[in-house]
Amino acid sequence: MTHPAQPKASHFINGEYVEDTAGTPIPVIYAATGEQIATVHAATPAIVEQALSTAKAAQKEWAKMTGTERGRVLRRAADIMRARNHDLSVLETYDTGKPLQETLVADATSGADALEYFGGLAASLTGEHIPLGEDWVYTKREPLGMCVGIGAWNYPTQIACWKGAPALACGNSMVFKPSETTPLCALKVAEILIEAGAPAGVFNVVQGMGEVGGALVTDPRVDKVSLTGSVPTGKKVYAAAAAGMKHVTMELGGKSPLIIFDDADVDNAVGGAINGNFYSSGQVCSNGTRVFVQKGIKEKFLARLAERTGNAVIGDPMDEATSFGPMVTENQMNIVLGYIEKGKEEGARLICGGNRADKDGYFIEPTVFADVTDDMTIAREEIFGPVMSVLDFDTEEEVVARANDTEFGLSAGVFTKDFTRAHRVIGNLEAGSCFINSYNDAPVEAPFGGVKASGVGRENSKEAIKHFSQVKSVYVRMGDVEAAF
Ligand code: NDP
Repeated sequence: MTHPAQPKASHFINGEYVEDTAGTPIPVIYAATGEQIATVHAATPAIVEQALSTAKAAQKEWAKMTGTERGRVLRRAADIMRARNHDLSVLETYDTGKPLQETLVADATSGADALEYFGGLAASLTGEHIPLGEDWVYTKREPLGMCVGIGAWNYPTQIACWKGAPALACGNSMVFKPSETTPLCALKVAEILIEAGAPAGVFNVVQGMGEVGGALVTDPRVDKVSLTGSVPTGKKVYAAAAAGMKHVTMELGGKSPLIIFDDADVDNAVGGAINGNFYSSGQVCSNGTRVFVQKGIKEKFLARLAERTGNAVIGDPMDEATSFGPMVTENQMNIVLGYIEKGKEEGARLICGGNRADKDGYFIEPTVFADVTDDMTIAREEIFGPVMSVLDFDTEEEVVARANDTEFGLSAGVFTKDFTRAHRVIGNLEAGSCFINSYNDAPVEAPFGGVKASGVGRENSKEAIKHFSQVKSVYVRMGDVEAAF
């Protein structure tokens, strides 16, 4: 019997599901059991061509519609997503393994927020009038054209919406390639947009590995590439886009600091560290994986952290009582287990976890290491799994310097009751998305993205509009033209 997660076909192009079984089969594995639940096929060159030529043709008509009309489509799509939240959340859980307890509140819902927010902005994307005596200049905010979105595997619905919603609001079209690991959810986003009234071809989904992503990024008809992925992939994609002078948004990895001063509320700080390390089993780019704790509260913090981490409910992600799910793939599980071994070998003190959980599927216990030093592998490299490193510090000056000593700069957080210090520390940290007495909140209203190797550009908020549109300026002369001859 066909599993309910099996899509009708692999790709969604020009308003309909499209199949080409000549493409390499991609098995979809449910991470909680290791069972194959669906198969899709990587896009063949013919499918890539179909998607690009369709999106190119559809963009012009879409851009001619008024912002109000485009916004209405996006807002209708948001309503449909919310009405189907339960089914979409179950699919997200099949795609990623993340517990339903999370997917019910964080995936289709945040995708719907993006559709609603950018749908609301679409009608307000206007230019300026710049008076110059009798003459004047006016500006227009115009779409970039055809955009390519490429997603990572941790938030397949959210990533498709965070890229698709602002792109479409500005009058662009998009070809979206999900990660080969999680190919299911973006198809539903495409289906819902059509149902909401989007013209066929405005948002298309093609499956495939890096090779398909590469074909999309290098096509001369593409005007912009927005990638969510790792730093090494980001460097490759950025270089390929630069060769074609394309616009880019790069949402890449991190090794973000979470700094806890000894005047902090310990339970809130522990809560922040848990949210910043164990949500989605640690597979979150902005995670605060270097937890710097001032020496005065170190042991109290570790004791409370171990106690609360012991309350994680690890198990069947479809059971709403489960609060901690598996790694997305066996490969990712093995990478993370490798880092845990490195942490042990390099002398970090294991506080809790440290093993594969005794279950089918790709579960790893939430793991905390203390006495981690700056040079240890687990403190330097992005692990993308449930491994928290706790490091000690004495002074503000010292911790800021150590926090910034990394190639990454996605996020940073600080817990303290001293608000002057909180703002001063955040001001001195090299990071794009920061938190005070909180961690990992990502409302659509706030800009999201990194500095240094963690990225280029911002997603969400009005900032995203700037990255999916360009300004045309028009000089209007009222008098005669003076010329030298
Ligand atoms: P990857 O960088 O491996 O892949 C990202 C996407 O790029 C995938 O769809 C991948 O395809 C595709 N891709 C790979 N090579 C190329 C290429 N040469 N040209 C075009 N596309 C290519 O990342 P993961 O999927 O492993 O995701 C984890 C990473 O994503 C982590 O580093 C994490 O920090 C980052 N991330 C960043 C976020 C942010 O907003 N800053 C949010 C979430 C994750 P395929 O995998 O199918 O081969």
